[in-house]
Amino acid sequence: MINCEQVRKDTPILHVPYNGKQLIYLDSAATSQKPQVVIDALTRFYTYYNAPIARGVYDLAEQATILYEQSRARIAQFLGAHAHEIVFTKGATEGINIVAWSWAVNHIKSADTIIITDQEHHSNILVWQAIAKRTGAHIKFVPLTDTGDIDLEAYRILLDDSVRLVAFSYTSNVLGSHAPVKSMIELAHAVGAVVLIDGAQTISHIPIDLKKLEPDFFVCSAHKMGGPAGIGALYISERMHKDIIPYHLGGGMVEHVERYDARFRVLPYGLEAGSQSAPDAYAWACAIDYFKPLIDSGAMQNHSAQLCAQLITGLKSIPEFSILGNATQLASSGQLVSFVHTSIHAHDIAAYLDQFGICVRAGHHCAQPLAQTLGIASSVRASFFAYNTFDEVAYLIDVLARIHSAF
Ligand code: PMP
Repeated sequence: MINCEQVRKDTPILHVPYNGKQLIYLDSAATSQKPQVVIDALTRFYTYYNAPIARGVYDLAEQATILYEQSRARIAQFLGAHAHEIVFTKGATEGINIVAWSWAVNHIKSADTIIITDQEHHSNILVWQAIAKRTGAHIKFVPLTDTGDIDLEAYRILLDDSVRLVAFSYTSNVLGSHAPVKSMIELAHAVGAVVLIDGAQTISHIPIDLKKLEPDFFVCSAHKMGGPAGIGALYISERMHKDIIPYHLGGGMVEHVERYDARFRVLPYGLEAGSQSAPDAYAWACAIDYFKPLIDSGAMQNHSAQLCAQLITGLKSIPEFSILGNATQLASSGQLVSFVHTSIHAHDIAAYLDQFGICVRAGHHCAQPLAQTLGIASSVRASFFAYNTFDEVAYLIDVLARIHSAF
């Protein structure tokens, strides 16, 4: 069980009046609030350790570099990877872009197929459109079943010898469903395809063991799991290292430079051009120290699923609302609930809720093709993290039940 009250005590923004009200933050799938330990970690790094990393020969620079590399090792351990398989990025989006422009553009040919799914975030669609245009390859989409789950049968049929890459999100940021990730990876590998997993919505709730899952690439962002903004990780399985040609070039990623040629460093350093954010890496490792026990024990997922179950029951009691996706699955392993109203626009619902101090996301959630598949323009999404309470969800339901009187 999560000690929700303790997490709340530890999260300062929740105690700052929000437009004169108590903040009810239900948008953690977009970005989560930060515990004091993470805020303190940033202050500590800037106060005691700040120096350029991987460059200076003086002691302060070495200390900063050690903290940066220790953070990499901590993040690697959290994901079940080796430290040299973890590249620091700005977030999941940058990770996918690195895979596209450092691997895919050199290995995908015009006769090849790229498979993604109907539930992808724009971050995992746009780059593949660009790669397809550049290489002449084709993109195919795995459809969803009536309950909004990935259609495994259709996936099997799409997988043939032409498939070079399969890229999909482990957890949908709109439907909250989890892909059958292990089977999908095994099926893709069986036809010789490379697999990229977008774990942006997953690492906050589900323990990840990349050694067991064995994808080729995995991306995630710190800010969705209590860590700082602007840092994330790209896992590149060691077996893929030889196939990577860095596209992002600059200081720190080279071993030797001459006028007309250069020799790059091995991974992960070869993909970390420019000055990296050591304070953010350090603060992310501190977020992991704080949240990992809750994630590993299953308490985080249980907690969020119970909040989902409560919200689903509440929404079902108001006939004008309908829930997107598989409500049964959300009630047992969900972390967010998206819903629509028969006549009130999602943006109006979110603006109305804001008057009560309730922050939810409204719109297409950066997944417009999914909205098109579902036949909607937008939806409202309430998403949960360790600090959300049953009282907050009860209040949300109560306010939603009265919404018709405001329109
Ligand atoms: N994939 C999914 C499923 C997401 O939900 C998000 C963030 N909304 C991203 C990718 C992109 O993450 P970031 O903005 O941190 O790069």
